[in-house]
Amino acid sequence: MKFDVLTIFPQYFDVLGESLVGKAISGGKFGVEIFNIRDFSSDKHHKTDDAPYGGGAGMVMTAEPIMAAIESADPLHEAHRIYMSPKGKVLDQKRVEQLAKKDRILLLCGDYEGVDERALALGIDEEISIGDYVLTGGELPALVLINCVARYLDGVLGSSESVEEESFSNGLLEYPHYTRPEVFRGMRVPEVLLGGNHRDISEWRLNKSLEVTQARRPDLLKGVDLTPYMPKKKKKHRQ
Ligand code: SAM
Repeated sequence: MKFDVLTIFPQYFDVLGESLVGKAISGGKFGVEIFNIRDFSSDKHHKTDDAPYGGGAGMVMTAEPIMAAIESADPLHEAHRIYMSPKGKVLDQKRVEQLAKKDRILLLCGDYEGVDERALALGIDEEISIGDYVLTGGELPALVLINCVARYLDGVLGSSESVEEESFSNGLLEYPHYTRPEVFRGMRVPEVLLGGNHRDISEWRLNKSLEVTQARRPDLLKGVDLTPYMPKKKKKHRQ
């Protein structure tokens, strides 16, 4: 998988050198190439924005350097091209899993009031939002998308189970976690987790998942088929 990121603020992406993601990039598990849209401006001052037609507050990113950057990064349109935008479909775990199957993803980060609509019509396949709120630019949304997609790529996380059991993967929020010590400020780790009975632990975790989902995100429970997560009944042996 390779991400091509188009931005006027490349330094935002320095953070990609950190943590598991940084390790995965330096270990060749996936690649990220940053394109500075200003480098594609024909303006002598590398200007990439202008006042909006029709008037109004703020500036609009011009189509010309954006199209030149897109065509340079992805001349044969091999990448799935995404514009990070509050007007896009809100990203969820299902879409993250689908995006992780792509070979290449191009991310366009908007800034100011946004991007000239013609660059979107000509160069973009899909608009994605990271939530119903507005940020100053598309750089943090692009980092969010890279981070959550990267977690599904081979070799990025330590254990393949990490993505399978966590929040949203089965439609539910995740159960609570505990680690040493057994007692912290008078609070004990639930007894079932200390017993080593995997069937009981699975059942407890499923119940806790249901409890936390019901309490915090009851909307997620609609239409969830819990059958695959129910503990298997023991077979009766014939006498
Ligand atoms: N005028 C735009 C509107 O009302 O929809 C908002 C522009 S915003 C200040 C500047 C840029 O930040 C956008 O072009 C987009 O790339 C990015 N952005 C802001 N909020 C976002 C969100 N929730 N999800 C994804 N991108 C976002």
